[in-house]
Amino acid sequence: MENMSSTTKYFILIALTRKNMHGYEMIMELEKIMGKKPSASQIYPVLKKMKSSGYVTVEKISGRKKVKSYKITADGKKFLADLNKRFDSLVEAALKNKIKVCVHCGCEMVKGAIQKKVNGKNMFFCCEMCAKSYSHHK
Ligand SMILES: [Zn+2]
Repeated sequence: MENMSSTTKYFILIALTRKNMHGYEMIMELEKIMGKKPSASQIYPVLKKMKSSGYVTVEKISGRKKVKSYKITADGKKFLADLNKRFDSLVEAALKNKIKVCVHCGCEMVKGAIQKKVNGKNMFFCCEMCAKSYSHHK
């Protein structure tokens, strides 16, 4: 649940960096970003929380009653930048587990690594050339 609302928070902030919008617009925008339409009951508590944290401000749209426009604040932008950094390092960490490093030349491969047994140990290489030169040297 907490996890879900932080994802929603993240996407709301991203949507608000594009333009200021009112609640309904935001639901439509989030549908585009997230691929599914969030419900108003999902959005409004998150907006309320972010407003009290100072990440968004609310402006009344002039001439129209009860229509509020949400706007991201400088604090909100900073918070989003921090979230982005955290997401980046998560993605990086996930990739690191998959990345193989050629023991000969040191280049990193996400896929296509060649696995060879050298002196009874499994080693990864980027190409046959590396595998050959490595085994010759050892
Ligand atoms: Zn190599």
